[in-house]
Amino acid sequence: MLAGLPGLEVVKIRQLLLLWYKEKGRDLPWRHQKDPYCIWVSEIMLQQTQVKTVIPFYQRWLQRFPTIKDLALADLQEVLKAWEGLGYYARARNLHKAAQYLIQNYNGIFPDRLEEVLSLPGIGRTTAGGILSAAFNQPISILDGNVKRVLSRFIALSVPPSKALPQLWELSDSLIDLENPRDFNQGLMDLGATVCTRKNPKCDQCPWQGDCQAYNKGIQSQLPMSEKSTPIPHKKIGVAVIYNDQGQILIDRRPTDKMLGGLWEFPGGKLEPDETVEECIKREILEELGIIIEVNEHIITVDHAYTHFRVSLIVHACRYLGGEPKPIGCEEIRWVNLDQLEEFPFPKANIKIIEALKLIKDC
Ligand code: SF4
Repeated sequence: MLAGLPGLEVVKIRQLLLLWYKEKGRDLPWRHQKDPYCIWVSEIMLQQTQVKTVIPFYQRWLQRFPTIKDLALADLQEVLKAWEGLGYYARARNLHKAAQYLIQNYNGIFPDRLEEVLSLPGIGRTTAGGILSAAFNQPISILDGNVKRVLSRFIALSVPPSKALPQLWELSDSLIDLENPRDFNQGLMDLGATVCTRKNPKCDQCPWQGDCQAYNKGIQSQLPMSEKSTPIPHKKIGVAVIYNDQGQILIDRRPTDKMLGGLWEFPGGKLEPDETVEECIKREILEELGIIIEVNEHIITVDHAYTHFRVSLIVHACRYLGGEPKPIGCEEIRWVNLDQLEEFPFPKANIKIIEALKLIKDC
């Protein structure tokens, strides 16, 4: 039973959320079906991406890979291409790897036991709860970012959520409706996404207003307590768009086990202290590909933020002078025409470089 709340109160709190969800819950494509594969794909896409961005990706993905088997049999490059633009590509690699594992070990059938689901790559406790409750109506709780915020306010948590995870999990476990866990979890997510929002929570529209401790104390906008923020590192990267005499461009494929693994990119690397961008690009290209280049005009600077750092990609047009290109710091290299670049999966920041190259060509 929920600490501090009698059983009847818990029943009432569950009912209030379920009634609210019935009336105000969002109509999302993955809620129209119970196929665990589709729900799994949606849960993974939603891990770091907003609903409105996910919907078209989700629909295209299921057209391209309608079943676990289709996904398992696809080439990783094709999978990464379908993911292009969603970011956090480890999610796509893990989906692919897990689909192959399911074909080999489960005959392509998504398991319905928590331990088995948790053993799949890319699936943690909250994702497992999301899948099992939505696909099989199992009473497995969730604790994603939205739910952490709602529950922290509901009990007026006096520390940042990361300092009270066991307590928040216990609360989520205690609250989940055992008869209707699917709708309860979906309702909890919707409450966080649409009413108990990060800024300006709409408490007057909230089914839990009467029982919410933060609201009753008038501190809902001050909660959850913020995590201690540390400055985000900023890396400057010199990037080379290397042309040969045929007008082809040299691209490389990143090592599979590194960040953005398996994606293609324009080669380059991090600026050392006291190094100019031109010096950096020349050095990196010699170290990573074993070739000599001439660094010419600046094309574009692309700023991009990842979870734990920011990068500025300072991109220069370069001319290939000599040496046999070798994949020293990458998996593979290719000379391609500008029009062929679209056939390869690139990280988001590199797509801006491709757009800039097309603009230059059209001028
Ligand atoms: S009353 Fe306000 S702060 Fe409390 S759960 Fe509802 S929306 Fe969030």
